[in-house]
This record gives sequence, structure tokens and C-alpha cells, in this order.
Amino acid sequence: MNAPVHRIARRLFASHFLVVLAGTLVFALAAYLRAPVAFENHMETMGSMMGSGSMMPDQLRGNFLAAVGEILLVSGISAAVAALVASTLLSWRIVGPLRALLAASQRIASGDYSRRLEVSSDDELGELALSFNTMAEKLDQTENRRSELIGNVAHELRTPLASIRSMMEALVDGVLPADAATFVDVQREASRLERLADDLVELSRAELGALPLELNQTDLGTVVDNAVQRLRPQFTDKGIDLTLKLPPGRVPVNVDTDRIVQVIVNLLGNALQYTDSGGRVQLETEVQGSTAMVSVTDNGIGMAGPDLDRVFERFYRVDKSRARTGGGSGIGLTISRLLVQAHGGTIAADSDGVGRGSTFSFTLPIS
Ligand code: ADP
Repeated sequence: MNAPVHRIARRLFASHFLVVLAGTLVFALAAYLRAPVAFENHMETMGSMMGSGSMMPDQLRGNFLAAVGEILLVSGISAAVAALVASTLLSWRIVGPLRALLAASQRIASGDYSRRLEVSSDDELGELALSFNTMAEKLDQTENRRSELIGNVAHELRTPLASIRSMMEALVDGVLPADAATFVDVQREASRLERLADDLVELSRAELGALPLELNQTDLGTVVDNAVQRLRPQFTDKGIDLTLKLPPGRVPVNVDTDRIVQVIVNLLGNALQYTDSGGRVQLETEVQGSTAMVSVTDNGIGMAGPDLDRVFERFYRVDKSRARTGGGSGIGLTISRLLVQAHGGTIAADSDGVGRGSTFSFTLPIS
């Protein structure tokens, strides 16, 4: 398993050793070619200065060359030992982290995303460990979200499926009459499943950033009006007063009209659902510098502080039973947030508390 790592250690030693060998050979060559000539010249100069001819005995030259050879041998062996020590230290330094990386990546490949590397230096190896840890963290989060999503989807599917099954059983047993009302109930549960499937497809596309936006230069007032027209009949039916407050003149925005209508319909639909008959809902558009803000305020059931951020999470519902009877899957606001963000805006929820109404507002850049 560690064969590649051992190869690195061997190669490091080989490269150090080759440098030492080459250095020693060059030095030896230079010494044996140049040293006798230099030695001879030196002795000649000394001889002429001392007034006698060639007084250099051969033995002296032999001793000199033997000394050079000895020095070369000792320094060559010392340099080879130094190369061995240096390459061992260096390979420990490199091979240790590489081994840890190898082991951690094998654990990740086998599905254990909890493994992290120790970042012990700020060099390239440290950077490698850091980016490995970031990758492992992302994979861990993705895996957690995936299993959480599967759990949530299974949970959402179970309720309508269980109610279809129990209605069918009651029909088979003759407890429920086989009349239109019973079939409408079954149909309603089937529609809920269909809506959930559509929402999930939309959510996964929005999360992948794969929802194509067809941006058009348009007036925000027209977009708001479009959304209001779609839901006005339901507000009238439920006896909720819906008022519209728009600034004078055009508010130019560069948006995908259908998507922004979808966001406003979602906010208005929630206000309609979570406000009792006789209540009030106001849709207001304001211009603040280079930003337009759309807000939907109701005097409905409101929510407590900790729920304000969480309502944008997937499948989060404050009051599960109430939301479920209205058919909500808790995905609408998640999709709305992704759509608003894709347009360069932000979305937020505000409420003075349970029973004191809510305001949902989002911004869009003015073009
Ligand atoms: P749903 O389809 O369940 O309405 P949303 O994502 O649109 O899903 O909303 C998530 C949750 O936020 C709802 O289940 C509800 O608990 C809460 N919520 C949304 N809008 C309002 C509102 N206007 N007043 C009170 N609660 C709201």
C-alpha cells in the first residue's frame, strides 16, 4: 500500500547520492590532473630560489598524491553519509504527510468523511493538507444534507401515502362510501404528492444553480400587480383585506418576471394561509437608493424569534400540523430565497412574536 511513498524516499536518496558522486568525481579528476603540475611548479620555484636544481625526491610527490587520495576518500564517504542523512530527514518530512494524506483519502473513498489531516506547516504540504480538509468538510456537509434530504422526503411522502392507503382500506371494507367526496379526498392527497415532487425538482435545480433566468428590463409595479391578480380571488373568498402600496412612477428592474411573480405569490400565499378570516395583508414596494424592496405584511399567526431564520430552511415548518393541512411542504421559502439570491437580492422574515403578524421582505437591485 505504501509502495509509491517508499519510491519517493529511494528517489530522494538516489538524487542526493548522485550529486555527491558527481561532486567527488569532478573534484578527484581536477585534483589528479592539476595537483601534480601545480606541485611541480611550486617545487621548481622553491628550488631556483634556494639555488639548487631539481631537489624534489619522487617520494615526496608520491606522498603528496596519496594524501590527496586519502582526503578525497574521506570527504567522499562523509558526503555520502551526509546525503543519506539529509535525504532520510527530507523524505520523512515529505513522506509522513503524504502517508497521512494517502490514508485519509482512502478512508474518504470508503465513505468515512470525518477524517481530517493535521496541518503542521505553512509550506506547500500545509496548504495541501488545508485544501484536503476543506474538500473533506464539503463532502461531509453534502453527505449530511443528502441523508437529511432523503429522511425529509420519506417523511413528507409518508403522510399523504398513509392517508391514501387508509382511505382505500376504508373503501374496500365499506366503511367509507364510494362517493365523490371520498374520491376528492384521495385526489387531494395525490395532488399533494404531485406538488411535492414538483417542488423537489425545482428545489434541486435551484440549489444547483440550474434554474435558467430569463432576465428582462421591466417595471417592478407590473410584476407585483401580476402576482396580486393571481391570488386576489382567494383573499376575497377567505375575507382577508389585501392592500397594495406602490411608489409613484416606474421601478425599473432587470428580472425574470415569472420567477419574481413566483416569489411574491409564495409570500402572499403564506400570508393568506397563516392569517385568519377578517385579517389584513399589505403588499408594499419601496425604493431605497439603488435597491427596491418588496414586503408582505400580515396580521396573522406570526412567529417566535428563533423561527425567523429557520423558515428559509428546507422542509422547516413552524406549526407542522397547521402547515400540513394547508398543503405546505416547507420548501416554498427555500426556493424563494434561492430565486431572490439568483437576482442579486436578499430575503428576510420579521415578526413581533406569535399572534402578532409577520413581514416577509426581499430586495432587488434597481437597473
Ligand atoms: P409552506 O409550504 O409550508 O408554507 P414555506 O417554505 O413557504 O412552506 O414556509 C415555511 C414555514 O414558514 C411555514 O410552514 C410556516 O410555518 C412559516 N410561515 C411562512 N409564512 C408565514 C406567515 N406569513 N406567517 C406565519 N408563518 C409563516
